[in-house]
Amino acid sequence: MISVLYMSTAKLPFSEEQLIELLKVSKANNERVGITGMLLYKDLNFLQALEGPDAEVDALLAKIKADPRHCGVVMLIREQVQGRSFGEWSMGFLNLNRPEVLPDGFSEIMNEFDPQDFFRDPTLAQKVLAGFRDAL
Ligand code: FAD
Repeated sequence: MISVLYMSTAKLPFSEEQLIELLKVSKANNERVGITGMLLYKDLNFLQALEGPDAEVDALLAKIKADPRHCGVVMLIREQVQGRSFGEWSMGFLNLNRPEVLPDGFSEIMNEFDPQDFFRDPTLAQKVLAGFRDAL
């Protein structure tokens, strides 16, 4: 099984409705092919973890990279794993542009969402995602 973590940038801000639609499609597709993961959206930045069978994850990555709604897909981590980190989620999601709807415990982790830090140290991105996963 493979686990990947990438960042990308939305070409235009996603509205709440567009995010909900993206989630709906993603959850249905991912469930069908055994992919789990988590997606964070802050400012225009997406940070997404995907895990599952190698071929399925690579096929999805090809679709995601070709998606005209975002650009600048940068792979931070790609590794073989024994088990899942997000096994409960066909696609966990948090819109960090709306901190007012997040419970208190999230505010500290949210301040750690810094794309430049993630490029310098991709394991930091992994830790931030795990922090949100554990707080959910
Ligand atoms: P459809 O939803 O019918 O889409 C067909 C085509 O239209 C695709 O090429 C799609 O890219 C494009 N498209 C769809 N909606 C729009 C729109 N509003 N504007 C412009 N073009 C559009 N998909 C998943 O299945 N799982 C994921 O985990 C996942 N994560 C994503 C994360 C990000 C940051 C982004 C931007 C997209 C993600 N997607 C994900 C969506 C993915 O890129 C494809 O759009 C989706 O998988 C295609 O689903 P579909 O085959 O049912 O086709």
